Amino acid sequence: MKLGIIGVGNAGSKIVDKMVEFESLTDRKLCRHVMVINTARTDLSKPDHIPDSQRILIGDTHQKAKGHGVGGDVEVGAEVAQNDIDEIRRAFDDVDIHEVDAILVCASLGGGTGSGAGPVVINELQKMYDEPVYGLGVLPGKYEGGRPALNAARSLQSFVNNTDNFIAFDNDAWRSKDQTVGEGYEGMNRELATRLVTLLGAGEYDEPTVAENAMDSSDIIRTLDTSGISSIGYASTSVDKTNGEGLLKRFREDHEIEDGSNAAAKINGLVRRAVNSRLTLPCEVSSADRALIVLSGPPSELSRKGLESAREWIENEVDTVEVLAGDDPRENATALSAVVLLSNVTETPRIESIQDQAVEAQEKIAEQEAVREEEIADLITDSDGKIDPVI
Ligand code: GDP
Repeated sequence: MKLGIIGVGNAGSKIVDKMVEFESLTDRKLCRHVMVINTARTDLSKPDHIPDSQRILIGDTHQKAKGHGVGGDVEVGAEVAQNDIDEIRRAFDDVDIHEVDAILVCASLGGGTGSGAGPVVINELQKMYDEPVYGLGVLPGKYEGGRPALNAARSLQSFVNNTDNFIAFDNDAWRSKDQTVGEGYEGMNRELATRLVTLLGAGEYDEPTVAENAMDSSDIIRTLDTSGISSIGYASTSVDKTNGEGLLKRFREDHEIEDGSNAAAKINGLVRRAVNSRLTLPCEVSSADRALIVLSGPPSELSRKGLESAREWIENEVDTVEVLAGDDPRENATALSAVVLLSNVTETPRIESIQDQAVEAQEKIAEQEAVREEEIADLITDSDGKIDPVI
């Protein structure tokens, strides 16, 4: 499909940047409009692939932001976006809506800007356009503590209530213990960008394709049209070992499939591996409402029979008749990839655990605030209360 992508906040902007990078490395044509919005000038300078004109600083005159971010405060994030709504609207005016089938807003939910300003941006987009607006949200890891969990639990409600679909990415599930935080994020963003661009970029080519089974953007829109939370599975295998060196190679999980002899069996195995691999949001697969399979690779590797049997397998796993499947033939691809979208998953323990952590954090914050006020009052008044303040 043709997409407008908007990154809000630090992580959201880095993810959008990685999507643009992966798109250009694989010669795809997904992102027709790209924009990043931030309250922190330094974070706004991080992306490598976003034109300067598409970087929007908000809140630079807001007393609590002033171009330095919102300090993880979700309320301030929302307030800043609301105050600068005219500027945000003006930036959206440039989006030629005939050029896009949908808009994707990417943000992390654990910080302040993405989690607070993200929902304001989404509301505005929903008012301005008839096209679907999707959200992509990063859930904070448990190890990050109570405040990010509370931000995320609050922001998740706003994202899900106001988007046509919310694709989740769980930092907890993707954290690798032997990496620094920076390296970890870089790798996670690459994995996520690979999944998003392979899925949403299916069916977009420079030249019209004659492929029989080609994925159509209406199939993707149909699968996402559940108003719920989605998770993505992915698996890939090299089809040409002499190519694909360098940066592009790093985008791949280069697992080999033992049985390379039979294209249909290969595809079936790949799709099963995609579903059974680490999902962007760990969840009970059978709780999904709808599913979609995209098979992307050289036309010689694609098999109608393989895709059909994989579709049947998912239909049984998910226990729904709403499973769509299609090919995304890529003449120059050096890998065969399967991406599976599980739409409206309802059994996901991570979300419950974030909510538990958030409730605990909220109670603790309220308790600490009450104690703090009492302590300050005690400290500044004399023990007999004989002294009055000046004003
Ligand atoms: P914001 O600019 O105020 O929205 O703040 P951030 O986007 O930095 O939000 C902080 C949250 O995002 C924390 O939960 C971090 O773990 C997470 N985070 C920060 N950078 C990245 C990133 O590059 N990738 C991922 N997956 N998570 C990130």
